Amino acid sequence: MKRKPANFIQCFGMTLFLLVASFPAFDSNALSQDSDSSKKLTLVCSTTQIADFARNIVGDRWEVICVLAPGEDPHTYEVGNDDALSVARADLCIENGWNLEGHSWMKRLAANANKPLVTCVEGVKPLKLDADGETVNDPHAWFDTNNASIYVLNIRNAVSKLDPSHAAEYDARSKLYLIQIRALDQWIARQVNAIPKARRILVTHHDAFGYFSKAYGFQAISPVGWTTGELSGVAIDQKQKIVEQIRELGVRSIFVETTINRELLDDIARETGITVGGELYSDAMGGQGTAGETYIGMMRENVLTIVEHLK
Ligand SMILES: [Zn+2]
Repeated sequence: MKRKPANFIQCFGMTLFLLVASFPAFDSNALSQDSDSSKKLTLVCSTTQIADFARNIVGDRWEVICVLAPGEDPHTYEVGNDDALSVARADLCIENGWNLEGHSWMKRLAANANKPLVTCVEGVKPLKLDADGETVNDPHAWFDTNNASIYVLNIRNAVSKLDPSHAAEYDARSKLYLIQIRALDQWIARQVNAIPKARRILVTHHDAFGYFSKAYGFQAISPVGWTTGELSGVAIDQKQKIVEQIRELGVRSIFVETTINRELLDDIARETGITVGGELYSDAMGGQGTAGETYIGMMRENVLTIVEHLK
């Protein structure tokens, strides 16, 4: 599914307007301690993707700390003393939001230390998911590159507000990065064209790929639901439903995720006699030195893996 540049620009322009119009109102007292421009400001991010976005905006001007290590699961993460110490010296905290950080752990860390917090999904149009009868916003919004651009603008706005003397620099970096994200989007659209429409079925462990699937014409199926938090509760009939869907739809490959134990998916693959097509980056990027260590890298590697096994 190819997205039209004109739509993107219109949507992007509107988003930009809304974000500029709704500049987060931070307590200006929070800034006074940073009047010494030689001091590096400190940014504490919840997830690896957000930390990567932030680094692309602030350069070396800020110290960027990420709470989650590569491969760690934000849904089930339990904060430790080190995290509280990092947040205690933060000038700004950034979270994904919509409860990606299970039980809002980043929000709580920031509130406990009385630090300003940016919620990246602010301004994103949510996909809705069912969570045990309750409708919730799907938090995995970064998998649509248009949403990733909104994350970038939210972060740019916040760091510029806190450090206005370098706002032009943050804006320049953001603009270049947004061009790269737009190029990534167009590249993904071209790559997935190699997969016939009927085979665009993405079976993964949990519902992380809803936005990706909507953007690029896939049907997303997962046995676990939107969060990995209640893994032990995967009902046998839910697993059986997936097995039947895989058979009915003639799915060729299913995919495990780097943040989650692969046992359940291996089980389903055995039962259906199909292959596990590889490992996808879902809620975290890859470790340092891997091809998936950046947002653009993780998206690229995911798409290459998906195309290779579903085309
Ligand atoms: Zn997730």
